[in-house]
Amino acid sequence: MSELAGLDIKFLAGVGPKRAAILNKELSIYSYEDLLYHFPYKYIDRTKFYEISEIHSKLPYIQVRGEITSIEVIGEKRQQRLVAHFTDGKGVLELVWFKGIKYIKPSLKPNTEYIVFGKPSEFNRKINVVHPELEESEAKNGKLNASLQSFYLTTERMKSSFINSKAIHKLQENALQSLNGKIPETLPASLTKKIGLINLHEALTQIHFPSDTEVLKKATYRLKFEELFYIQLNILKMKMKRKVLYRGHQFTKIGANFNQFFQTKLPFELTNAQKRVIKEIRKDVGSGKQMNRLLQGDVGSGKTMVGLMCMLIGLDNGCQSCLMAPTEILATQHMESISEYLEGLDIKVALLTGSTKQKDRKIIHEQLLNGELHILIGTHALLEDIVQFNNLGLVIIDEQHRFGVAQRARLWKKNNVPPHILVMTATPIPRTLAMTLYGDLDVSVIDELPPGRKPIQTVHYFEKRRKQVYDFMKKQIDLGRQIYLVYPMIKESEKMDFKNLEEGYESVSEYFPSEKYSISKVHGKMKPAEKEAEMQRFAKGETQIMVATTVIEVGVNIPNASVMIIESTERFGLSQLHQLRGRVGRGAEQSYCILMSSYKISNESRKRIETMVRTNDGFEIAEVDLKLRGPGDIEGTQQSGISYDLKIANLGKDGQILQYARDIAQEILDNDPLLDKEENFTLAKQVKRLSKTKINWSVIS
Ligand code: ADP
Ligand code: MG
Repeated sequence: MSELAGLDIKFLAGVGPKRAAILNKELSIYSYEDLLYHFPYKYIDRTKFYEISEIHSKLPYIQVRGEITSIEVIGEKRQQRLVAHFTDGKGVLELVWFKGIKYIKPSLKPNTEYIVFGKPSEFNRKINVVHPELEESEAKNGKLNASLQSFYLTTERMKSSFINSKAIHKLQENALQSLNGKIPETLPASLTKKIGLINLHEALTQIHFPSDTEVLKKATYRLKFEELFYIQLNILKMKMKRKVLYRGHQFTKIGANFNQFFQTKLPFELTNAQKRVIKEIRKDVGSGKQMNRLLQGDVGSGKTMVGLMCMLIGLDNGCQSCLMAPTEILATQHMESISEYLEGLDIKVALLTGSTKQKDRKIIHEQLLNGELHILIGTHALLEDIVQFNNLGLVIIDEQHRFGVAQRARLWKKNNVPPHILVMTATPIPRTLAMTLYGDLDVSVIDELPPGRKPIQTVHYFEKRRKQVYDFMKKQIDLGRQIYLVYPMIKESEKMDFKNLEEGYESVSEYFPSEKYSISKVHGKMKPAEKEAEMQRFAKGETQIMVATTVIEVGVNIPNASVMIIESTERFGLSQLHQLRGRVGRGAEQSYCILMSSYKISNESRKRIETMVRTNDGFEIAEVDLKLRGPGDIEGTQQSGISYDLKIANLGKDGQILQYARDIAQEILDNDPLLDKEENFTLAKQVKRLSKTKINWSVIS
């Protein structure tokens, strides 16, 4: 493969410098390899021939065999069109060209059998095919023989330079013919044999020129497997490397801090899932290797308690811990609840955020260094170089997708021995995506909510029910509850007629007069301090309604807020809706989520809304989301630091292949963790190449 990457596309027959520049720019095709890995996005069966009498304009494509009986140019100057009458002996079809008449007209031959391929349409009650593909029957012989026609993505700019799908197809043919069977294999023979994969040359030939659907399936499978396999091999190798090369703090014992807390302070019984996860973490931190674990648990599943208990284990083993949250309000909430849990115990906790006063900071810095301070809770402020620990053993990162890879990497420098890292997230990530995005982390899942929670009731209302919704809000406020009202955007863009926050705020203010109600407003254009202050007012119960855009933070815990109303629901993605809904349902009262939408919503929006109404299960929602949107758009993907550029595999659909590829990769690494063995030379070479070029494999945490 690397050899193909070295062959410049401009030297391929049919390309040249001008077209090469367009291919570079429009499709990032620079080499033969790039071209061959520009796969068709669809195929059309070319084995079927229609009779002209069968054709109607609703057919997507037709193929017929026949002859041209007459040609005429109709119309004046710029309006001209070329019409050829085409017959298969039983019926007549019009072939029409608006462009290129000068070249096409003289090339059309009488008494010659042609194959016509194209999309039929109806004009003046006659069936015609505009700009058909036309090929002499004879010419088909001797070419790469495909029964399925490939279609390629192209851009407007390419089309205007006559590089359309068909032209790309031709280039693929040229490339394959010039390579003449010499495409170097990129998987070891032992592996292709074991799994029963066809070889790379055949796979690439068949993916562009499939001789039938069976072989096409084999080619697709081989290429998908390979793509996913190398990603997994790369991730798992990184993980192995860390395990083999890096030492970690070894937390061998459970001591006084943990036991005392467990026996006298724990305010509730842990759920089985929490117990299981704590066990998994204990095993990790006791192993002598550095832990890198992702803890997934739906909103409200009790991740904080798990984190706290791990910090206590750290303390029992002479280590300090820190807990990082993405926003000040979240950090403050953690500080409050953790201080409360630990009350009466001899454990010192401090909060460090952007607004911590200078003189308090100084004390914190000192006490961290001399070891007096045991647990530090805070925001990004924790990452500053000046924050140095006496012996940092565990870092917990809450709601990780707000933290960039680079920031996490800085944590490593805070200690000689890298601290254990626990990343906690309430954004459910489908299994396939987790395996890929966080494939080098070990994963724990809390799949159980604490008992006694009342499931949130979710309904979908159209605009005409607004008055009812407002009345419902009033009733809830009378009962002492608080309400979130969320809008998708701040300023209405001219083209989109979605309600914006300002308008919404006004209409709500009218209905909820200030004599009786107070309303908060929070949006992205506010200064952080203002936002914070307004959030605090709502958190303290000083306001009853929070009108906001999606800036209301993930993880915010205001148990008294029991109603979430989402406006223009059709504008939100599923994971966002789920996150927003997670702001309610945190107290003892029944909570509600009302999804408002206009009448005109797309099928996809409808599916999203139906899913929200049907289930509260974050993982189920995440799976639907992945199917609807594809992995590229899933929250967290862009920020994760790993940008995938999957050419053929689809994380939404190819879960099974992915799992298989991962298992095989693991098997190989179990025998040869760093791929040093002779027999794994091809694999090592390929992994090295991919990690350099294709994917940004920044180390996670
Ligand atoms: P999240 O996983 O969303 O971060 P939290 O850790 O904030 O959830 O927990 C949500 C609420 O559930 C908190 O008020 C917490 O005290 C409570 N909680 C956690 N674990 C349990 C449990 N096992 N039984 C009862 N309540 C629990
Ligand atoms: Mg939380």
